[in-house]
Amino acid sequence: MRTRSVNQVINSINTSDGAGVKLLRSLGQRQHVRLDPFLMLDEFGSFDANDYIAGFPPHPHRGFETVTYMLEGHMLHEDHMGNKGHLHGGDVQWMTAAHGIIHSEMPQQQAGRMHGFQLWINLPAREKMKPASYRDIPAAKIPVATLNNRATVKVIAGEYADGEQRITGPIQGLATQALYIDVHLPKDQLFSQPTPGAHNAFVYVYEGTVRVGEGADATSVPTHAAAFLNGGEQIMITAESDARFLVLAAQPLNEPVVQYGPFVMNTREEIEQAIVDYQNGRLVQEKAQAFNE
Ligand code: MN
Repeated sequence: MRTRSVNQVINSINTSDGAGVKLLRSLGQRQHVRLDPFLMLDEFGSFDANDYIAGFPPHPHRGFETVTYMLEGHMLHEDHMGNKGHLHGGDVQWMTAAHGIIHSEMPQQQAGRMHGFQLWINLPAREKMKPASYRDIPAAKIPVATLNNRATVKVIAGEYADGEQRITGPIQGLATQALYIDVHLPKDQLFSQPTPGAHNAFVYVYEGTVRVGEGADATSVPTHAAAFLNGGEQIMITAESDARFLVLAAQPLNEPVVQYGPFVMNTREEIEQAIVDYQNGRLVQEKAQAFNE
């Protein structure tokens, strides 16, 4: 069994998106900084309402999935299909934009900490124009395993497995077979996770620092950085300090990616079509409902 080593460390950059929400962006900070099928990962985290209060007013997406995972705070999602979803700490929203969605993501607090992640996962060409769908997954429906070394593993998508237990997350059956777990690992403790050898995998550290890999091949990964991993059947992570990190893995699509802002398709023509469809009110298949700011 090969243990995955670190191929590249991507430090997050400060940026802003939406109506001026401050973000740390690792994947997606430039168009080629991606790990197929993962397109983008943003961490938003601030105690200052000025950094988040403007939110993300109504905007479109086509051709991929967005996953919002809240650690702290309160956001409201509303979309053209009439869905309303309140996200609080620990909740996940899994949105498959596919053919098209128009939604807003707005903070519902005037003060206090807002902290969480938004991940963009590409869809295969055959699924890019399927109907849009949306799921709210409350924290109570997301299983958390506590390991013998006091580590905790929250399984959002895919399956965590070790010698003792298998924990299956609420999101299953994706074409990309995505794994999405959130791990809290005490200092000096070891965490391991099996992965199909050909899947692409990365680790994103959001508290503390870790070493990824085995023995002399291990690489230190700082806070707010993503580590892209080489192929292998096992991920091994040792906490250098008390650490919190995401582990993501998925089947690569190996298809051309053409991105224009919130549209991710396979060809330039499909992007031009998405722009025309949006301008003509045909990005979404349903009759669009107005929603409040
Ligand atoms: Mn959005």
